[in-house]
Amino acid sequence: MTPLSLFVLDLSAEGAGRLTRHDPAEPVIPVTDLGVTRGDGIFETIAVRGGVLQALGPHLDRFERSAAMLDLPVPNRAHWTEAIEAAAAAIPEDPRPGAVKFVMTRGIEGGSHPTGWALGFLADDPSGERAGGIKVVTLDRGYRHDVAQTSPWLLQGAKSLAYAVNKAAGREAARHGADDVIFVSSDDYVLEGPSSTVIARFGDIAVTPPVELGILPGTTQADAFTALEAHGVTTLIKNLSPADLVEADALWLCSSTRGAAPIRELDGAARTVDAAWTELMNTDLDARRR
Ligand code: PLP
Repeated sequence: MTPLSLFVLDLSAEGAGRLTRHDPAEPVIPVTDLGVTRGDGIFETIAVRGGVLQALGPHLDRFERSAAMLDLPVPNRAHWTEAIEAAAAAIPEDPRPGAVKFVMTRGIEGGSHPTGWALGFLADDPSGERAGGIKVVTLDRGYRHDVAQTSPWLLQGAKSLAYAVNKAAGREAARHGADDVIFVSSDDYVLEGPSSTVIARFGDIAVTPPVELGILPGTTQADAFTALEAHGVTTLIKNLSPADLVEADALWLCSSTRGAAPIRELDGAARTVDAAWTELMNTDLDARRR
């Protein structure tokens, strides 16, 4: 990640959404901010390609959904859009995808309002993994498939700042010689990656698991499905088991800056990389508008 631009959004009643520009290399957030001390907050990362903020609306929708799940104030869409656009405007043309990460924390401990900012940066180039594929292991997330209904306080399906677990899963994957993870529920439902959505191909049908399992609604998966449907593919939102993953003709992990990355190995077994569907999805994903 190469940080480029930082805009802090004043979310106090008096601040009324005022934006201030800062140097992203300078310390800006107080050490008593609950986002820093507790991971208590939410975020989104939007890809910026050719100066266009991709799927801004769906990202703002998901930000709003996460805010509701964490009992944070309803984000003011106009204020956030202004902050996100300001951060995006500073991203130059580059072979790497640009991105804006925007964050709302619960604010300073004992304070009266949330903290907000939008950071523009250059993300990692996904072309290697799109072409060559990725090695993935399945890991037990340790919750049942109905955790979002039985225990909503566990915030499964919210894009909260508390990603230490997601990062630890990535290190566990590396210990297995893999690049990434597909989480599975304790009762054997396929969930999502630590920062991505699963797509599986069965013949000319594309399948992704439902958000009721306590996973994020993937903005990239949604647009990838639109692209596939335009080419005559049937898309389904449906439960999958680990055995279904073994049976699938091809598998992908998708997310905003990465696009669709084909899986070339799952739990140590070689998998067919479907170059045609990978190309089809990424061509449309790279050309997305807001
Ligand atoms: N699931 C999780 C847990 C994520 O963190 C992400 C993105 O970071 C996704 C899915 C994919 O979401 P999107 O396609 O909107 O980037």
